Amino acid sequence: MDNSFEINNIIPENDQERIAVLKRYKIANTPAEQAFDNVAKLTAQIFSVPIALISLVDTDSVFYKANIGMEKIKSVARAQSLCSVAILDDKVLVSDQPTGYKFYAGAPLITNDGFRIGTLCIVDTKSKSFFPQDEEILKGMARIVMDEIELRLTGITEIVSTRQLLTASQEEQQTLNEELITTVEELAASNEEMLITNEALAATHKALNTKVKELQKSEEMLRFSIESANVGTWYFDLETETFTPSLSLKKLFGYRTDEEMTYQDILVQISENYRNKVIAAASGTIYKGANYNVEFSATGFHDQKLRWLKAIGKLDHDTNGKLSHFSGVVIEITEQKQDEIRKNDFIAMVSHELKTPLTSLKGYIQLLTSKAKKTEDPFTISALERGNTQITKMTAMINGFLNVSRLEAGKIHLDKQPFALNQLMHDIVDEIIMTTQGHEIIMLPAAPLTINADADKIGQVLNNFLSNAVKYSPLTSRIEVAAIEIDGMIQVSVKDEGMGINPEDIERLFDRFYRVENQHAQNISGFGIGLYLCAEIVNRHDGKIWVNSENGNGSTFYFSIPKYK
Ligand code: ADP
Repeated sequence: MDNSFEINNIIPENDQERIAVLKRYKIANTPAEQAFDNVAKLTAQIFSVPIALISLVDTDSVFYKANIGMEKIKSVARAQSLCSVAILDDKVLVSDQPTGYKFYAGAPLITNDGFRIGTLCIVDTKSKSFFPQDEEILKGMARIVMDEIELRLTGITEIVSTRQLLTASQEEQQTLNEELITTVEELAASNEEMLITNEALAATHKALNTKVKELQKSEEMLRFSIESANVGTWYFDLETETFTPSLSLKKLFGYRTDEEMTYQDILVQISENYRNKVIAAASGTIYKGANYNVEFSATGFHDQKLRWLKAIGKLDHDTNGKLSHFSGVVIEITEQKQDEIRKNDFIAMVSHELKTPLTSLKGYIQLLTSKAKKTEDPFTISALERGNTQITKMTAMINGFLNVSRLEAGKIHLDKQPFALNQLMHDIVDEIIMTTQGHEIIMLPAAPLTINADADKIGQVLNNFLSNAVKYSPLTSRIEVAAIEIDGMIQVSVKDEGMGINPEDIERLFDRFYRVENQHAQNISGFGIGLYLCAEIVNRHDGKIWVNSENGNGSTFYFSIPKYK
């Protein structure tokens, strides 16, 4: 590059890098700024010179960021400026022969990373003495300028990043706006869909209304037929606990159809010995979902007529699947019940009448036996013994019938007292062992167990289990009797190796007069009342009775009653 100086080359080796650094400050060719003007003015005042400049040395020109004293000149060619020379060294350049002037002193503007991007210089039209301390002052002022340049850059960077942030948030806003538009469009679409759905709903509603009218009609017809068949119905809403009886139900309890009849009113009319059973069955249904099936007698409220009633009901769900109501039907069974009562009375009477001659028959046979023993007539003795056994069997049967009729008339009285079960079991087992031959009857060891019960009746249950085990199992088989305590209940079991029972028979085994019909059982005498009586006795002791059995694989009969505390 041509220049007006004696120095051959005023371009430093690192000029490209230096120019890049200058660009970094974004300051070349920018308008004047107060801060720089102030420093330049102060410098001119300090050194009492007319001209002070802040120059930036660019590729081809020198630009004045601040210009005191030569205001019209914004820049000069790099080759004509002493500042181009001043940036070649860190030192202050002093010259007494600048073009057109008498004095020049320039301190380079040195960046943090050591690049000289321009100068702070003073120029005078007169010669001037310049001492080393003046150089130091000018250098100091140059550092101030440089600090100002750095500060200015920070400001710019901040502005830039703020601007970037702004742009970013504007972009976000834009995206949001777009999303909003989509949402609005979607909303409009779903609104339209909803309109269509609404129309469909309206149509369904209309159809439903017609169905409801049809339903009301058939419900009315049903109600009519139920009412005319004299079947009472009730509806108990679990949530509101409201009880709604049908008109027929009111009639069955002796109420007028226009009167109010509550659940409590009904309970009062139910005969005392059935009342608790009815209440227990109802709570069993409401709280445990058990089927409701009870028979009881009740006296009519106005007519004071005793009726036998059978109620069947269940717990039902509403359309949401929630348990919502307990409802059912009540029918009158007075006639059947009276037939049954008459039959029972008859059986009771006949049994009773039979007992007297049977007792005397037994007496005569015993008399004859003792006579025959004296004459040592073996045939007569064995014939009489067989007769005696038959009479014993017959007595047991008659007693069974008597018990059934007594039980059903509610005449069985329980005499509950605490007693040692183990002793009773031993006595009964010993007795059975004495009267049977062939079976191996074993009483398993048991801890002492005390129950509060009617010992005679419990003995009767065990006796029945044992004689059935003997009756329905082969001669030489084993029978095990056991008693244990489980969860506060005393459980007694009788296990045999007999013919076993079919699952379908098990369900009905404890029903009155139920006998299994098969080839084996046909030849074994019985009336099917033993287990029925057992079940009644156990139930009245708040106990449980059941059987585990498999056809052909023996049976185990159980009963359990609460332990005495
Ligand atoms: P039954 O007088 O007929 O023996 P129960 O009421 O005592 O009357 O028994 C009812 C029926 O249960 C019996 O007819 C018999 O079929 C069946 N059963 C009772 N115990 C047993 C048993 N241990 N093994 C097989 N079946 C039995």
